Amino acid sequence: MSVQELTDILRNSRKIVFFGGAGVSTASGIPDFRSANGLWNQKYKRNLSPEEMVSRSFCERDPEDFFAFYKDKRVYPEAKPNACHYARARLEKMGRLRAVVTQNIDGLHQMAGSTNVFELHGSVLRNYCTRCRSFYDVNFILEADGVPRCPKCGSIVKPDVVLYEETLDDNVIDGAVRAIAGADTLIIGGTSLIVYPAAGFVRYFRGNKLVVINKSVTQADEYADLVIHDDIAQVMDQAVKALEEQQ
Ligand code: ZN
Repeated sequence: MSVQELTDILRNSRKIVFFGGAGVSTASGIPDFRSANGLWNQKYKRNLSPEEMVSRSFCERDPEDFFAFYKDKRVYPEAKPNACHYARARLEKMGRLRAVVTQNIDGLHQMAGSTNVFELHGSVLRNYCTRCRSFYDVNFILEADGVPRCPKCGSIVKPDVVLYEETLDDNVIDGAVRAIAGADTLIIGGTSLIVYPAAGFVRYFRGNKLVVINKSVTQADEYADLVIHDDIAQVMDQAVKALEEQQ
């Protein structure tokens, strides 16, 4: 019933924006890193939260352990796009979806074929030397023994990922806000909207239909036009398939 309603909304939309969080990537085998359990702390004899492990200050204080945690919990080189990523790419090809705004850093949206993606927190696929700005791919980081260093100048190579205590990129924020402000339908998926800055972006939406798809309750449920508490990958796949069958 709910999926049918979602299909109806998709059919009547031409400027959909999808705002997604960690729940979008779990079907690709990428867990929310905030759920990283205490084993890591025991391993390194530390008492830090996952957020503190990926903070700017920890990276500067202890790059060895920062990169060990980062490679272990933030990079999933074997991950492939799931049904949700592909459903959105098909919606874009159909001329219905304008943009994807994501809190994820895995790059799976582009891998699935989405072209207009605003990555609020950056991407593990891009890495730059902190001194000479040379580009390095994700394999360079993974294959580095300990702290990745630029072969050209010897400086640390840093992922193009927004760490805790760092601010988001102004151009990315601007693009995401413009996309949301111009959308006729906003679908919020796989995020509880608790983590800053997700909740703030929704305020810019002025369109017709606000849809929330998440396994658990979110802060946007009360003012959404449609709320589906279910698996985002299954729901999006079913709705887009139904739409394709009708055309
Ligand atoms: Zn360099």
